[in-house]
Formats: sequence, C-alpha cells, structure tokens
Amino acid sequence: MDPEQTRSAISSVPKDLFVGGYWTPAEGNRTMPVENPATGDVLCAVADADRSDAVRAIRAAADAQAAWAATPPRQRSELLRAGYQALLEAQDSLALVISAEVGKPFAQARAEVEYAAEFLRWFAEEAVRVAGSFVHHPENPARRTIVMRRPIGPSLLITPWNFPLAMGTRKIGPALAAGCCVVLKPAPQTPLSALALAEILTRVGVPGGVVNVVPTSAASPIVTEILATGLVRKLSFTGSTAVGKRLLEQCAASVISTSMELGGNAAFMVFDDADIDAAVESAMAAKMRNMGQTCTSANRFYVQAGIAEPFAKRLVERYRGLRMDLQQPALGDVGPLIDGTAIRKVDRLVRDATRRGATVLLGGAAAEGRGHFYPPTVLAGVSPESELCSTEIFGPVAALMTFEDEADVVAHANATEFGLAAYVFTRDLSRALRVSEQLEVGCVGLNTGTISDPTAPFGGVKQSGLGIEGGPDGIKEFLETKTVAVQL
Ligand code: NAP
Repeated sequence: MDPEQTRSAISSVPKDLFVGGYWTPAEGNRTMPVENPATGDVLCAVADADRSDAVRAIRAAADAQAAWAATPPRQRSELLRAGYQALLEAQDSLALVISAEVGKPFAQARAEVEYAAEFLRWFAEEAVRVAGSFVHHPENPARRTIVMRRPIGPSLLITPWNFPLAMGTRKIGPALAAGCCVVLKPAPQTPLSALALAEILTRVGVPGGVVNVVPTSAASPIVTEILATGLVRKLSFTGSTAVGKRLLEQCAASVISTSMELGGNAAFMVFDDADIDAAVESAMAAKMRNMGQTCTSANRFYVQAGIAEPFAKRLVERYRGLRMDLQQPALGDVGPLIDGTAIRKVDRLVRDATRRGATVLLGGAAAEGRGHFYPPTVLAGVSPESELCSTEIFGPVAALMTFEDEADVVAHANATEFGLAAYVFTRDLSRALRVSEQLEVGCVGLNTGTISDPTAPFGGVKQSGLGIEGGPDGIKEFLETKTVAVQL
C-alpha cells in the first residue's frame, strides 16, 4: 500500500465540524488528534466540538426538520440512492481512510464501504414505502380510523469506532428516508469516516442542516447539552451496554425515544454432525473480522466433545496462517486493536483464563513493538468461570469449551445477560431450528459466521439492545404513529 495514497485520501477529508450545511471550526478553534492504531502516529487533527457547537448542530437539524419532512419521499429516496452510488465510487479512498483510523486490513475496509453503501440503497428503497392505514370500525358503521406514520423529528446519532462508516449509514439511511434531520456524533478515534460521509451526502445534494456531524473529545457533556435543549426526539445509539444504560437514564428524564444497539457475548456452537471445515471457515468471519472487535464476534466457542480435538487443530492451523503485517498493517489479514486499553483488556482476560486452567494453543501475548497488535489466539479447556465468558472480549481470542448434549449447550449459551448474536453449526435441520428457537438472542447465524445484512432486521434482546436496524423494520425506529379517529 502506497503511504502517499493514504495521505492523499486523508487530506481530502474535511477536518471541520459540519453544521447547517457549512464546514466550520470548533469554538475557540479546538482540535483533537486522530491516531493510527497501527503505529500510534497522529494522522491529522479534526475540530473538537464543545457545548456551544453541539447546540448549534441540533438547532440546525431542528431548523431543517420541517422542510426535510415535507420533501417528497421519492426525492429523499433519490438522494439516498445517489449517496449509495457516490460511496461506491469513492470506495478505495474511503477504505484507505477507514483502514488508517481503525487499523483494519484494506480488504475489510473496502468491504465495510460496500456494506455501508448498501444501507443507503436499502433505505432509498424503503423511503417510498411508508404506509399508513384506513380502517373501518368493527362495530360502529359511522366510524373510521386513519393511521399515519410521521417522521419522529430531529435525531441524535451516536456511533462507535469499529465500523465508523457503516454504523453511520445504518442510522443516517433510515433517518433520512423517514424524513428526520440528524446530528451525528462519531467516536473520537474515528471521526474521518463520518466527516467524509457528510461531504459525500452534501455533494450529491442532501440539503444543509439535514446531516450535521460533530466530532468531540467530550462526549458526555456534549450529549447532555444536546439532550437538554429539548429539541431531540430520537436518540439512536450504538456502543457498549454500560454507556447505553447511562443514555437510557438521561433520555428517560424527557421521555426521548431510543434505539440501542449494544454489546454482545456470542456463543459459537459446533455439533458433532457439523461440517467442521465450514465451521472453521465461518470462525474466520465470526472471530477474526476486525480483529474480533465486532458486536457479533464469537466470544465463547462450544464444541461437542467428540469433535473438539479436530476442530481445535484445524482452527489453530487456519488462524496460524493469518498474516499480521506490522509494517504495512493494511496489507495483512489481521490488523491492530484500536488502542492500548484494548490490548490491556485482552491481555488481562487471557491471563485470567490461563490462571483458571486454559491451555494456549496459539498466540497468547501482545506483539512486541509499536502499535496495538495482539496476534490471533486460541485457548482450549477454558473454564466457564473465566472472566472472558461473561465479558465481551473485543479481541482476536477464541475461547474453546466442550459440551455433551444440546440442552447443555443451549443452557450455557443463554447464561449471559447479553443477547445479540449466536452461531449454530449442525447438519440436522430439526436441531438447527430447535436450537435457534431456544437461543435468547436477536440474531442467529445458522451454518454461517456472517449475520449482518442491511436487508435483514438486526438487533439485540436482553441487555444487548432495544430496537432494530436494517431490514424493513429499520425505518420504523424513525417514524411515529398518529391516529385520526373519524366520525362520519
Ligand atoms: P462506547 O465506549 O460505548 O462508545 C460508543 C460511543 O458512545 C462513542 O461515540 C463514545 O464516545 C460515546 N459515548 C461514550 N460515553 C458517552 C456518554 N456518557 N454520553 C454520550 N456518548 C458517550 O463503545 P465503543 O468502545 O466505541 O464500541 C464498542 C462497543 O460497541 C462494544 O460493546 C460493541 O459490542 C458495541 N457495538 C454494538 C453494535 C450493535 O449493533 N449492537 C455494533 C457495533 C458496536 P467517547 O469514546 O468519546 O466516549
């Protein structure tokens, strides 16, 4: 990868706040650095919004709201469709930016751009399908009920760093399709993707004020300030369960509608009738995509006792073959973790598991040198008491355990307060459906390690979230229902 191409991609991204259709510096010209997690070097500085900037942004969204809601759905749809096209045209340059600020391999960053663009295409198609209803009363012949779906209003979107472009479009797509104006607060580690997205949406014609972007190093006070204006009608958050709970409390004070996409603790279950090679291959996507830093990452592997050894052997072989390129991480199969805190957490979890009896089959210690690299790691004989069984690892560690029968593994899989995703590998159709029904999760990967799909509903149950993103339901999060009772 030519570093000059990366520099040029980064320099083409605006570094100011985007408020009311204008690129503006933050109050007092405050800036914050954006780091390359592969080297720890500073890539660039971007504007660092303070409270007054944040208030300007939500006012701009509120001011633009009525006109955007009144914009014909077909027009909103065509703007989103143009955004989809523009994202794909900028795929390589956006992938370079994602790769630089998240550290993910270039191929995975390119895939993220496609995934991100797809949300705009999907919701462009949904924008023109928002229907109400007209109902004859079941008993009163002179009574009718009209049900309308209206845009909920100005929305605050908060996104994490792990899919900085796709988590943005997964919220902006349905919000704009429904007729809502937004303020996007990206994660401070990855503001560039969000700023690039705002630039692209503006270039294709999305009017000023409809999308506002405010990177900040002070999330909590700024979000508190925005919520206190009384202008926010929707908070859509993707991030950790701990922060989600805090935001739910804040929103309760003024009964703001929330959508919460929170943390996970996915079980990856392999039955002895499964195609082991396919299960190992699926464990690539489910565990190693983005270095295990995805909410749907397989956190706990349960392998039926009779096939535990061959599965572990093949998994180790497959993970050992992954290239970690410390010099040019974008060219590797696996990249760095996001920061030093992530490395220390993974390290602590691995040490705890080995102290409780786990055997290290591969990896097991952070890489020496610059950057935040932790190699693919496989642990066998993990005790269920280990901290990594109850905590989201968010790193490239496969924790293997064995199980005897179906009831046993379902009980283990459900023994967590999280309920986002789970994976099941079996050739027995009845078992596949039975287990899928019993799992307390929002999404199941059945003989696949890939779940997320813009055309399918995605969301967690239990402490993994509230609400749905993607699929036909995603737009509903940004609509409210109004009933008109009619007396003839
Ligand atoms: P995080 O620490 O919860 O942060 C997420 C976002 O919230 C960031 O923009 C963060 O900004 C902001 N934030 C933090 N504290 C806040 C507060 N008090 N008020 C307002 N905003 C606040 O999560 P993360 O480390 O970025 O992302 C990893 C987590 O996201 C994992 O748990 C993962 O499972 C989850 N995730 C879930 C999904 C899903 O679809 N369910 C998808 C992707 C990721 P600051 O960093 O500045 O605090």
